[in-house]
Amino acid sequence: MSLPNTVRVRFAPSPTGMLHVGGLRSALFNWLFARHSGGTFILRIEDTDRKRYDPRALPDLLESLRWLGLDWDEGPEVGGEYGPYFQSQRTHLYGQYARQLLDSGDAYYCFCTSARQAGGNPEQTSHRGAATGYDRRCRTLDARAAAERVAEGESAVIRLKMPLEGRTTFHDLIRGDISVDNGIQDDVVLLKSDGYPTYHLANVVDDHLMRITHIMRADEWIATAPRHVQLYKALGWQMPAIAHLPVVLDPSGKGKMSKRKKVAADGRVLPVHVRDFREAGYLPEALFNFLALIGWHYDDHTELMTRQEIVDRFSIERINPAAAAFNYAKLDNFNGVYIRGLTVEELTDRLMPFVVRAGFHADRQTLLRITPLVRERMERLDQIAGLVDFFFAEQLADYDPLELIPKKADAAEACRLLASARELLAGVEPFDHDSIERALRGLAERLDVKAGQLFQPIRVAVCGRLVAPPLFGTLEVMGRECALKRIDQALGNLAALAPLAG
Ligand code: GLU
Repeated sequence: MSLPNTVRVRFAPSPTGMLHVGGLRSALFNWLFARHSGGTFILRIEDTDRKRYDPRALPDLLESLRWLGLDWDEGPEVGGEYGPYFQSQRTHLYGQYARQLLDSGDAYYCFCTSARQAGGNPEQTSHRGAATGYDRRCRTLDARAAAERVAEGESAVIRLKMPLEGRTTFHDLIRGDISVDNGIQDDVVLLKSDGYPTYHLANVVDDHLMRITHIMRADEWIATAPRHVQLYKALGWQMPAIAHLPVVLDPSGKGKMSKRKKVAADGRVLPVHVRDFREAGYLPEALFNFLALIGWHYDDHTELMTRQEIVDRFSIERINPAAAAFNYAKLDNFNGVYIRGLTVEELTDRLMPFVVRAGFHADRQTLLRITPLVRERMERLDQIAGLVDFFFAEQLADYDPLELIPKKADAAEACRLLASARELLAGVEPFDHDSIERALRGLAERLDVKAGQLFQPIRVAVCGRLVAPPLFGTLEVMGRECALKRIDQALGNLAALAPLAG
């Protein structure tokens, strides 16, 4: 059976934990290649390792892929011609091919117990290609006698007979030809004694049966490729084209982007799982654009691209084999750009869950008026809470009353400025941005102070902080009643300070 003419690619995660951003990048590249070439993107769940199975992983995976907009054409919940798409529901198939390999003399039963193995457990799947050190003792057993022992109930695994001499060579679409010495390859376990396949057998059988044309996977699997080449050969199947994606390194560029907790300079825990990116308020379109550029580029300067542009421009030729570091600062920057690209309505809708999560009782109408005041100041949606809390608080959090006093002034002067502003604001009609601005600027002139001198005490009085959204809009949205109440409180704070000012 030759490979189909149209591209069929797959993302084949093992449901052992929450989806990591590195995994998402692999899914994205497969998806991009499928969409670019009008092909099919398949999601296959490699869930034969029952020990590492995590029941929370699948819902998290599906949700994460959907959140980024990586829709699959075949797989869980959508079905398809080549299902089932869960390996745990296909175990009968793997046994059948393992037996075929026994019959053709390309595999053998191994009875070695873990106790005999110095180098490791014979059941070990040696997932990522690390040699298990098995000494091939059972390779020379008589095949018929071995089959009889199994028929009598003795426990055995099935191993692939790797060639003992020569080299295995394959072509990697990103790295070129790769050649390894067969002498250093193990006789890998294909079927475990409980009848479950190892990753190697299941992965190869399914890629073949699902008619995969291109394997694109994380570079950590590169060491397993020579075994897969031999397995395809033994089964008499054409191997799909193969590409190993560059590793995603952590921000320092020194180690792999691990699952270990990373903390930013400002104390924030940096996300590594996809769900944490979502919860931190990264927009899926920003993460999409950012991840596409980890290991792939379009030209030497274009970075911000729409989803469609990336689909149109994507190609395997432009994937760089070198490892690429995950730069959070750059992602934040992208995210800020994407945030500012949303309409006020869109941004408000995206912010709403974050505002609710922060415990604020905001209605959409109010938030629609606040959004334009803060959109320039946000790089992540979760920052909204710290930017707008004062709009929703009954009572302002304690602030340092000294902040009410502008430079080169004292408490008495701050009191004078704030009291005049209060009087004016009580009468401004209508209480909107433009009228407030006109009134306050006029007041600064009349009092013969710089506008900033006057605005600082007002800002601190109503927002409880020195750095806050633009003042006139803030006052308008807050409303006269609330603003005056807070200014009165601030005047009280200043009065308490007055003796200090002498
Ligand atoms: N199940 C493997 C994983 O979890 C798939 C590797 C591959 O794509 O071949 O990454």
